Amino acid sequence: MAERITGHTELIGLMAYPIRHSSSPAMQNEAFAAVGADYAYLAFEVGADEIEDAVKAIRTLKMRGSNVSMPNKTLVGQYLDELSPAAELCGAVNTIVNDNGYLKGYITDGIGFMAALKDNNIDPIGKKMTIVGAGGAATAIEIQAALDGVAEISIFNIKDKFYVVGEETVQKINERTNCKAQMFDLADTEALRREMADSYLFVNATGAGMKPLEDVSVVPDKSFFRPELIVVDVPYGTLLTKMRKMAKEVGCKTMNGLGMMLFQGAAGFELWTGKEMPIDHMKEVLGISYDD
Ligand code: NAD
Repeated sequence: MAERITGHTELIGLMAYPIRHSSSPAMQNEAFAAVGADYAYLAFEVGADEIEDAVKAIRTLKMRGSNVSMPNKTLVGQYLDELSPAAELCGAVNTIVNDNGYLKGYITDGIGFMAALKDNNIDPIGKKMTIVGAGGAATAIEIQAALDGVAEISIFNIKDKFYVVGEETVQKINERTNCKAQMFDLADTEALRREMADSYLFVNATGAGMKPLEDVSVVPDKSFFRPELIVVDVPYGTLLTKMRKMAKEVGCKTMNGLGMMLFQGAAGFELWTGKEMPIDHMKEVLGISYDD
């Protein structure tokens, strides 16, 4: 690393709080080194009251860009010059690109989800997806899937503060894309069974399956699955979740959240460097496999 940094090296940041636990710096710097891209990626502890100044710093220091995570994802857009269609629809940004002082915001979580599916030979375009979740990850996936051409999306969520976000997402998808979206209460298990029955893809985009919800499954029991259904977890955890364990018992193809994590980073890498992330190399270095 020290040998590769020169006076020409351009800086890319990660602005969030807390952030010291993040695996993004290791991932991005490994990928820069692997393709000989002259960039360095560093994490900065930046909270909500500092994000406006931090965006000014991107311009002042002529940084190439930045990733943004909580609590800044929904705040940073107002300080940028332009948003991608997905970032605008999601109301959230996780990637900033600085082109000579012009800052454009993107949300790459949904792009990463769709790219990971493709890399794992899963093609939901023109088909139906049922998804549980209405938080940040779920919204990014739902919006990108609709923009990319998934035909129908049935969204389920518990009746917490996120439910209304899901309803807003449904409205935006129906008004602004060709996809048909509907919202349901996760407690309505009859609706869940019906919507899953004719879906190509089922996605858990909630924290269920990971600490502190490691014993929670958004699907009540394995009678909801059929072998042809593809079942995807978004939580990063490498351990097999209760939900995917049930799906596997029925014979479903399943996938964990690591591919989405890798490909959301790959999308940012490509926006900043103009080069493709060396995916096979990164999978090997990071020990990523799509199933467990
Ligand atoms: P969030 O806080 O924005 O949303 C949380 C979601 O979980 C909401 O839909 C909420 O209603 C739901 N929920 C909470 N408790 C629940 C319960 N007991 N039963 C059912 N649903 C429940 O969080 P987020 O940022 O959207 O993250 C969701 C998950 O996705 C987390 O596990 C996170 O680690 C993971 N994630 C993964 C990636 C990736 O690249 N793989 C990216 C972002 C987030």
